[in-house]
Amino acid sequence: MRFSGWKVLSEGLTGNRGWSPHWREPEPRQDYDVVIIGGGGHGLSTAYYLAKEHGLTNIAVLEKNYIGGGNVGRNTTIVRANYFLPGNSEFYSHALKLWEGLEEDLNYNVMHSQRGLINLFHSDGQRDAFARRGNAMINQGDDAELLDREGVRQYLPYLDFDNGRFPIYGGLLHRRGGTARHDAVAWGYARGADQRGVHLIQNCEVTGIDIENGRVRGVQTTRGAIRARKVGIVVAGRSGQVAAMAGLRLPIESHVLQAFVTEGLKPVIDHVVSFGMGHFYISQSDKGGLVFGGDLDFYASYAQRGNLPMVEHVMEAGMTLMPMIGKARVLRSWGGIMDMTPDGSPIIDKTGVDGLYIDCGWCYGGFKAVPASGHCFAHLIATDRPHGAATRFRLDRFRTGHGLMDEEGTGAQHNLH
Ligand SMILES: Cc1cc2nc3c(=O)[nH]c(=O)nc-3n(C[C@H](O)[C@H](O)[C@H](O)COP(=O)(O)OP(=O)(O)OC[C@H]3O[C@@H](n4cnc5c(N)ncnc54)[C@H](O)[C@@H]3O)c2cc1C
Repeated sequence: MRFSGWKVLSEGLTGNRGWSPHWREPEPRQDYDVVIIGGGGHGLSTAYYLAKEHGLTNIAVLEKNYIGGGNVGRNTTIVRANYFLPGNSEFYSHALKLWEGLEEDLNYNVMHSQRGLINLFHSDGQRDAFARRGNAMINQGDDAELLDREGVRQYLPYLDFDNGRFPIYGGLLHRRGGTARHDAVAWGYARGADQRGVHLIQNCEVTGIDIENGRVRGVQTTRGAIRARKVGIVVAGRSGQVAAMAGLRLPIESHVLQAFVTEGLKPVIDHVVSFGMGHFYISQSDKGGLVFGGDLDFYASYAQRGNLPMVEHVMEAGMTLMPMIGKARVLRSWGGIMDMTPDGSPIIDKTGVDGLYIDCGWCYGGFKAVPASGHCFAHLIATDRPHGAATRFRLDRFRTGHGLMDEEGTGAQHNLH
């Protein structure tokens, strides 16, 4: 079934009886060419590109809960390509280009909205840092414009420009940045993978990884043993636990990140606004809710809920930046488990076990990476060679100290960056 304007119109006129489920619910086979552990954004996009670009279709994605229940459906949906360091810069640039063609590619409305992202700065030093970042983005082929204070006021007149502690000096505008509907991204990739023959197995937890003579043979699951020639681990906040099943100890800490949404309001915020000094970022959803978040809860945890001190901190930061927000009522809040690397940059690599691959360490920025992560991980699994856009995401950089990418403010201890 293909989606089109004509299909929506004809279904609307004939009682909406012709829609079919987005994906099947197959029973697991005993044997696959590739098993992907984790049905989040990265696992689903990996399966999709394995099938679409490498012709592999005997693939299963094993998800312990339901598709879209992890971080892919819990994030604040910001999509951008404004990373600074070589390695990250070209990877996120690759990701944004894939985003820009994603809806046509998937034949699915993921509500990708390039409404523009503005990163505010509040001192001369911060302006210099953003000017450098903007130059790096332009050198990479992406867009960046340095706005002065009046330039920011033109777009965001409701901010507190003369705040005593954080007066606004200006902002870095990234016009191609924006948002996408997070769970639609999961559903779109799931549907695309299913259409190409991939088995999406929900409620199937991997409990063990079978290894013989240094080579992966398959996995143990709550629905029985499954053999596989290749296995990819893509489980975000659970990366440490699942990798431990293969005897691997990862340089990952799992932390909680919370998000908040208010009641629906009339359109008031038409960009994504990021206030790094207070660690606060906000956009407005298509339904009108203000969607915002802040810093990690500062303790390691596997609980998908946060704690009150960070709630208070985020609300204070919001009030500092835009006092008008105080009138809005918070409707919901939730948490997700972040896979934080020490340098704030991800890992897409082979492990020491033949046929076992890992994709993790997305910190709190992995939603925007979903298309490129799947694209590059699929390339690695299919060819055993890293994709050109992800050559620096090596696992052993934490053991050797070579090639660390200390992307400011994104590692597990960002107060130390
Ligand atoms: C509050 C919040 C805000 C965020 N905001 C942004 C943002 O604005 N922009 C951005 O780019 N990123 C953001 N992120 C980060 C982004 O959501 C994550 O980096 C990304 O979604 C992680 O990859 P994933 O989608 O594959 O993870 P997930 O959706 O968590 O997928 C991993 C899956 O693995 C499954 N799994 C785990 N263990 C097993 C097992 N043993 N067997 C089988 N399955 C298993 C889990 O159930 C889960 O479904 C945010 C995250 C949170 C929580």
